[in-house]
Amino acid sequence: MLVYIHVPFCRSKCSYCAFPSAAIGRDPDKIAPLLKEYLDVLSLEIEQSSLTLGKRSVTSVFFGGGTPSLLPPALVGRVMDKLAGAFSLAEKLEVTLEANPESLRGNAAAKYLEAGANRLSLGVQSLDDAMLRVLGRPHKAIDGINAVYAARAAGFKNLNVDLMWGLPGQGVRRWLQTLKDVIELAPDHVSSYNLTLEPGTPLEIEHENGALVLPPERDQNIMFMEGAALLESAGYLQYEISNFARMGFQCAHNIGYWEGEEYLGLGPSSTSTIGPKRWTNPASLASWKEQVQKGVDGRAVEILTPKIRILEHIMLRLRTARGLRLKAYKDLTGGDFLKDHEKLVQTLHENGLLRARNGYLSLTRSGMMVSNAVLTNIFERLEADPALNPDKFPRKPSACAALAASSSPRVRPVKWPEAEVQPKVRRLIEPE
Ligand code: SF4
Repeated sequence: MLVYIHVPFCRSKCSYCAFPSAAIGRDPDKIAPLLKEYLDVLSLEIEQSSLTLGKRSVTSVFFGGGTPSLLPPALVGRVMDKLAGAFSLAEKLEVTLEANPESLRGNAAAKYLEAGANRLSLGVQSLDDAMLRVLGRPHKAIDGINAVYAARAAGFKNLNVDLMWGLPGQGVRRWLQTLKDVIELAPDHVSSYNLTLEPGTPLEIEHENGALVLPPERDQNIMFMEGAALLESAGYLQYEISNFARMGFQCAHNIGYWEGEEYLGLGPSSTSTIGPKRWTNPASLASWKEQVQKGVDGRAVEILTPKIRILEHIMLRLRTARGLRLKAYKDLTGGDFLKDHEKLVQTLHENGLLRARNGYLSLTRSGMMVSNAVLTNIFERLEADPALNPDKFPRKPSACAALAASSSPRVRPVKWPEAEVQPKVRRLIEPE
């Protein structure tokens, strides 16, 4: 089982952020009681989870947020002690702590290591002060660089750097320079996310008002393709659309999600999936506290239908470089993916967006760039075609026969990105 702990506090809100977190400022007199209350409720939630789930084996713990590095190391240590008492922690437990660069001052990194964290994920986002200002980040580029050095000096042997691209005012050259600078810092893992404008965030409002302009789509496509090529040339393998790692440093927690492992979410707004059940904690601290005090009876549980399971499986697996295992699809549905989606698979393959090898179907890097369009296509077909309806999975043999006899499936055209037809980019990325 994976454990995710949501820490719902930040110093201030970044201008693009729609994550559930509250800005708590810097006044220690206000922050201390909040953190104490949070820790008390979290401890109770861990105890309850242990009583209802039993002393399960835990392979990964992820402190995410929010800004988990606002929790003093001693509190992180207390949470780890609680988890060790409640569950059976694996010998090779991966414990990730997300940290903002400005919060890793002094010997904080060494203390987090002592407290049990063995993987640090630094929210660097950019090494360009102008971009950090646009994002409303509470740190400068130099803080990101110093945080990497501090983490290494403290002894962290597994270090991720989070980056964002496609930012207002960011050209291809600037983005690639940031990547080169990050490669110089030699982290073990790089997460590289395309900026999405979340409704209602200050950045989205400024964009709507015309005060901010995003890079054109063609430039964004080149940022994705050339950025990935640059990282791979430096030894970081792309193992998911937004994630790159040196050999042996893929994030076990993320892989667990994509492989469909069970996960327990603790803290406000976190989601759990255990067996066929899924539930999400309330987002506000007060409602979360109230629910935890009521116990498991207080939560609304959703039973995962075959439809949800199969759609999630396809979505998560096709985001990874390894791809969708055709046998897994067959086990889940009783069907054959290549036949169910024959025309779409053929079209994508002919356009260099999809490959099938060793029993897996995966998107090429160009395919990853249009993954949303590809997935929408698949999902719409699953919804619209009665023979493919995931609610009827696993499929009965008669339905398979009906499907095989049906005429060729409808395929909504995928909008090919401009960068796809750039021969230079294509040669660079796919030399074969
Ligand atoms: S630090 Fe992270 S969670 Fe907090 S406001 Fe910024 S983006 Fe959101």
